[in-house]
Amino acid sequence: MTVPRLRPDIDSLPAYKAGQRPPERPDLTVYKISSNEVPYPPLPSVVDAIARAAQEIHRYPDPASSRLVAALAQRHGVPEDQIALGTGSVALCGHITSAVAGPGDEVVYAWRSFEAYPIWTQIAGAASVQVPLLPDERHDLPAMLAAITPRTRLVFVCTPNNPTGAVITEAELTGFLDQVPSDVLVVLDEAYTEFVTRTDVADGVAMVRRYPNLVLLRTFSKAYGLAALRVGFAIAHPAVAAAIRKTATPFGVSTVAEEAAVASLAAEDELMERVRAVVAERERVLAALRAQGWNVVDSQANFVWLRLGDRTTDYAAACEEAGITVRPFAGEGVRITVGEPEANDRVITVSQAFLTA
Ligand SMILES: *Cc1c(COP(=O)(O)O)cnc(C)c1O
Repeated sequence: MTVPRLRPDIDSLPAYKAGQRPPERPDLTVYKISSNEVPYPPLPSVVDAIARAAQEIHRYPDPASSRLVAALAQRHGVPEDQIALGTGSVALCGHITSAVAGPGDEVVYAWRSFEAYPIWTQIAGAASVQVPLLPDERHDLPAMLAAITPRTRLVFVCTPNNPTGAVITEAELTGFLDQVPSDVLVVLDEAYTEFVTRTDVADGVAMVRRYPNLVLLRTFSKAYGLAALRVGFAIAHPAVAAAIRKTATPFGVSTVAEEAAVASLAAEDELMERVRAVVAERERVLAALRAQGWNVVDSQANFVWLRLGDRTTDYAAACEEAGITVRPFAGEGVRITVGEPEANDRVITVSQAFLTA
């Protein structure tokens, strides 16, 4: 039997590798610290909003998600026509890529960074231009500028960078954007911005006002704790926002997701208290690892990065043994989500044992 003919390049398309769930264990509580989720269940007010929205699920959602768009416009002080929604900001990365790039075009991004960038680039039929991170895990913005050619249609910039946690400062970002050709779109992926405590980073919304070729991406999956509901948003020039709406899946954002996101914006103070607790745990883990002798770079996100090279798989196996599942990037390093205090304690214990082994 012949199989249906696929695009030849689909064979080489890497599958998105999600963080693994730990297998259940009779002897101890296991923790999933592989996907940068927050360890807290949804707030009661959010669960109530979801339950109310569940009464409406026999109807299609509002295709414009007007309530969420209005709430976001108010929250960020931008006109509604500058906002576009997607089923998570990973989907928005794809919509943007397909709106600007195709065969013959190039997409520039740092590497290692978010694994969705190469996938969406290849799906669009464009070519990836990967610019290695600096030794201290930051984006090499001068090298990224140098990588821009007349074929470049899109640049992804991820701050804090997934999986290293390094940020780009406001001075670095403006220096970069001042030199990117104004017809090249730049995506500023700020999935972890709520966890940033440094004060020298850019205000992404102000940057979008200043640079019409900049798109800001944010998500409700991480700090807002709605990972399973799939909702993220872009703030962009109205023409870019309109292009995203055209390339997005119709009715992608469900009524349930929209109402949960609106309720989360209303409960922002409560949610940001949780974010502060995660940040305190991040600093505790970083300090403990450094005290053990690990050379670990600062992270401004809800995860830490250990560049373990060829010891990556061994370290991940040691974690698994201890009932915690991290995200290994074979041959490169391990990304460890800051989770429940008990999970973080185990990270510290495993890391100590790993060093002395
Ligand atoms: C998690 C993440 C996203 C978005 O996740 P969604 O759940 O699709 O909103 C986007 N960019 C980066 C770098 C991420 O780590």
